Amino acid sequence: MARYRDMASTEDNQSDMDLWTVCDKGHVHWGRAGGAGVLFRHVPEQGEPTYLLQLRSKSVDYGGTWGIPGGAIRRGETPEMAAHREAEEEIGALPPYRIRGTEVQDCGGNWKFHIVTADVDQEFPAFCVRETYATGWFTREDMRNLALHPGLQNWLDQQDSGGR
Ligand SMILES: [Zn+2]
Repeated sequence: MARYRDMASTEDNQSDMDLWTVCDKGHVHWGRAGGAGVLFRHVPEQGEPTYLLQLRSKSVDYGGTWGIPGGAIRRGETPEMAAHREAEEEIGALPPYRIRGTEVQDCGGNWKFHIVTADVDQEFPAFCVRETYATGWFTREDMRNLALHPGLQNWLDQQDSGGR
């Protein structure tokens, strides 16, 4: 989801959704067709589940906050496909995973971000390939002490109020 891919994207029909867009509420969002990211979870036999987070580089929106790998959905992609592609671009090869569901966040202005939640068998090493300063596995409790991307903060608040 390179933020500065706009110039090159005209040569690649699939990535013509990799553009900033303004929603009905006047927010500026990345991705004309919406965005998607994947939130990996590992559930240990004992103890709290951990989640893979990514510290966003300064070159992207909300740089310096912790979020999930993701980006713009391209033409012909499902949110799940886009989330997979973006995660591989940003943190490297992914292990097999089981998709639990997809949670849609609408900003209120008809622009949607899809959080694909998925389980993995173990905490795998995630790299900082692109747009990523650091990665790490955190419990929900840990997340409370991090500066989170607003979308992830929103997800966390929902989890805590939903009792899941
Ligand atoms: Zn919006």
